[in-house]
Amino acid sequence: MSDRYPSIYVVGGGLSGIAAAEALSHDRGRPRNIVILEARAQLGGRTSSYRESYDGLMTDTGQHLFMDGYHATRHLLKILGTENHLAFLDPFSLYLLIPPDRLSLLEIPLNNGQAGLLSGVMGFGGLSLISRLSLLRIKGALPKRNDAVDHMDARTFLRQAGQTKEAIDRFWELLTISATNLPTDKVSASLLVSILKESLFSGAGPRTLGYNTVPLSDLIVEPAQRVLEKRGVDIRLKTSVNQFHIQQDRVSELVASRESFKVGPGDHVIVAVPPWAFERLFPMERMNEPLVQNVARLSDPSPILSIHLWLRREVWIPIMTGFPENDIHWVFNKDAMTPSGQAGRIPDPSLFDFQYTGPARQFHATKSVSCVVSGADKLADRSDRDLVVSAMVTLKKIVSDLNALDLVHSRVIRERFATPVFAPGQGMYRPSSSSFLSNLWIAGDLADTGLPATMEGAVRAGYQAAEEIERILERRRIGGRGPAEIQETLR
Ligand SMILES: Cc1cc2nc3c(=O)[nH]c(=O)nc-3n(C[C@H](O)[C@H](O)[C@H](O)COP(=O)(O)OP(=O)(O)OC[C@H]3O[C@@H](n4cnc5c(N)ncnc54)[C@H](O)[C@@H]3O)c2cc1C
Repeated sequence: MSDRYPSIYVVGGGLSGIAAAEALSHDRGRPRNIVILEARAQLGGRTSSYRESYDGLMTDTGQHLFMDGYHATRHLLKILGTENHLAFLDPFSLYLLIPPDRLSLLEIPLNNGQAGLLSGVMGFGGLSLISRLSLLRIKGALPKRNDAVDHMDARTFLRQAGQTKEAIDRFWELLTISATNLPTDKVSASLLVSILKESLFSGAGPRTLGYNTVPLSDLIVEPAQRVLEKRGVDIRLKTSVNQFHIQQDRVSELVASRESFKVGPGDHVIVAVPPWAFERLFPMERMNEPLVQNVARLSDPSPILSIHLWLRREVWIPIMTGFPENDIHWVFNKDAMTPSGQAGRIPDPSLFDFQYTGPARQFHATKSVSCVVSGADKLADRSDRDLVVSAMVTLKKIVSDLNALDLVHSRVIRERFATPVFAPGQGMYRPSSSSFLSNLWIAGDLADTGLPATMEGAVRAGYQAAEEIERILERRRIGGRGPAEIQETLR
């Protein structure tokens, strides 16, 4: 490793660490040593896949959804050469199984601005007219500043925004828990507001949802390893950082499982780990620092359960179906989400013993289904068998002739540490990218991006930390001159 160039250590090789390393390594004209220290045997963190023994295929541990407004994530994927492996719903179409047995479609045409939203909501048969009108009214209740409602929970905000109980229970609850991984009465309203502003009510008109058509290992993990290694980034896997050594106002050494890394005077450290892995990096005498205390307050995790089912025969279901007021929140059609999936065949309408209001073309054949429970505190301790039964009962709501013999294989994956809890009033504890140490920068989905703990939040935080370091390196490169001179040089 060269002594001439600054070294930047990225602790944590999840999406956030990958984004930071990508930003710092993209300009070969600015040589530096970038080292990723990752505890696990691969990059990617919570965006991960495993090899399923049943069919030998790489399978995502948990379904990830993307918004088309995830501009930082899409930028990163473009650089990794995999953005084309995202597919977006066009029109935006959500099938919701309204209890007890009515499948309704919320279909919002894209590129038609707020008029599309208006026509989509008004055409949504899952809610009464009064509730649909209340949905449309929410735009007027969105505060200018998201943090103005951080002190209240999303349910209180929704009530104050004139939402009917029906709209909250049958629409907002599912939307909120899916987007924030917390129920409406547990999550800060500011996160719901930020999502609404970036999705249904974005300046560019309503946005849509997308999904990966290849496993996350092919979308992120392996391409990131390839691209970063090609740029000379030193990726140290199975290297868990145990502690930072701190001298005066800077990190001076990283003590890892197998070796230590000296952090020289011009070097920097980005910490891109989840809140529950953050506190233990600091020596005892620094535990009282407000940053460390604040992040410790964000260390409660909210679980996500994924119940993967493999069926003996094909069933015809939409790509994604939401189940308000149900244990299982979403059923995903896994075969339709791959490039080889059979799309657009017309299902046999007699399969449905409920009033179906959507177009048949949006149903696809599949023998592989993934069911998701977000904010799964209550369900996480239930047995695998119980969860599989709940998943099959849920699937039967949209596949009326399904029976137990149709199931050939199942796997339950509990991600107990899926996302941090950002409860009402906790926005103030989310750190900005700078810290109390001059060479330590904070990234990861805990950082204060205003977004819930999401891929987009993680990527934006990684890019933000990289930008801060870039600014300092640039200042040093042009010789520590005054701000006016720097401006002049940069012009
Ligand atoms: C099942 C599931 C479904 C999800 N669905 C969605 C979704 O639909 N849409 C969405 O936008 N987001 C979703 N998310 C959230 C999203 O995956 C995360 O917000 C994002 O991946 C976080 O990235 P990160 O880099 O901040 O953290 P991580 O991915 O957790 O990366 C941190 C890395 O740091 C490493 N590490 C920790 N401690 C140390 C240490 N001491 N030394 C070295 N390395 C260390 C870890 O091994 C890990 O690789 C989901 C998450 C889960 C679990």
